[in-house]
Amino acid sequence: TYTLGPKISNWNQERKIWLDSHPDFPNFVNGKPKILLVTGSPPTPCDNPIGDHYLLKSIKNKIDYCRIHGIEIIYNMAHLDKELAGYWAKLPLIRRLMLSHPEVEWIWWMDSDALFTDMVFEIPVSKYDDYNLVVHGYPDLMFNQKSWIALNTGSFLFRNCQWSLDLLDAWAPMGPKGPIREEAGKILTANLKGRPAFEADDQSALIYLLTSKKDVWMDKVYLENSYYLHGYWAGLVDRYEEMIEKYHPGLGDERWPFVTHFVGCKPCGSYGDYPVERCLSSMERAFNFADNQVLNLYGFRHKGLLSPKIKRIRNETATPLEYVNQFDIRRPALNAH
Ligand code: UDP
Ligand code: MN
Repeated sequence: TYTLGPKISNWNQERKIWLDSHPDFPNFVNGKPKILLVTGSPPTPCDNPIGDHYLLKSIKNKIDYCRIHGIEIIYNMAHLDKELAGYWAKLPLIRRLMLSHPEVEWIWWMDSDALFTDMVFEIPVSKYDDYNLVVHGYPDLMFNQKSWIALNTGSFLFRNCQWSLDLLDAWAPMGPKGPIREEAGKILTANLKGRPAFEADDQSALIYLLTSKKDVWMDKVYLENSYYLHGYWAGLVDRYEEMIEKYHPGLGDERWPFVTHFVGCKPCGSYGDYPVERCLSSMERAFNFADNQVLNLYGFRHKGLLSPKIKRIRNETATPLEYVNQFDIRRPALNAH
């Protein structure tokens, strides 16, 4: 069967030796694990040119979040393995990044169609000390209903360790495009509730693997649903004004969603489940909702959630340092003055 590369079975020991001999590249700094956020898009332009503009907005949004929170970011446009093109491309990429960045403790995959919409919220990473995979999902939907949307692979974190390499190896075999992916799609549709008939996708394959081999894997998988590591856009984008009125960034849950993910929208090309106009205006709203949280430090915000234009929200001052702590979201303790 298909493999992602030469079998590696001693990664934990090898990585530890490397870390011990490279103190300049620590995997923890001030008690915080080093996180690398990875996202990407196809190597070719979008069929619909406006899609490229939204890819640009999407990467700007992620750069902003990562800069604010000290997370490294990488954008990939290459297909490292042509067998695993499309949504499967993240698997060989994550593996490659783990092996090439031994100093990185967590690799965080995020789809191009997912935006940070809470620029203050930070993932409670110490909660995952005993886990190796963190993904948004619901145990009931997984193990009782075997639903094909029990978890979402648009935003998830892998610890850089042997367990993760093993999981990637177990996850990949349904991915090779052509007959293997087609046949595997039939197995997934037969076994997962609600799944339409189509070729094997990475999300369904992960659900199938974790439900059918629960005892092997689940003790190291954290199904997170206390905040929106992934948040389905349709229930969120129309409520942003209400959230602004009632709540504030930093909550990360349905009151102020951490991530808004445009599942079923394909602004870049090929056919999606929703009208492209609805997708684009909703993405515009999500982007501006997030961008307002970034622009606040500089004294501006968008005129409306659909407007690329901005307006001033404070007067200029000759003594800017009196206010800088108050508006910089990296200083939460000082904010609450
Ligand atoms: N992706 C990529 N290269 C590709 C195709 C997809 O990097 O050639 C990434 C991209 O970030 C995308 C994610 O894989 O958001 C999931 O792919 P999918 O086709 O499911 O796109 P989505 O439905 O998320 O737009
Ligand atoms: Mn997506």
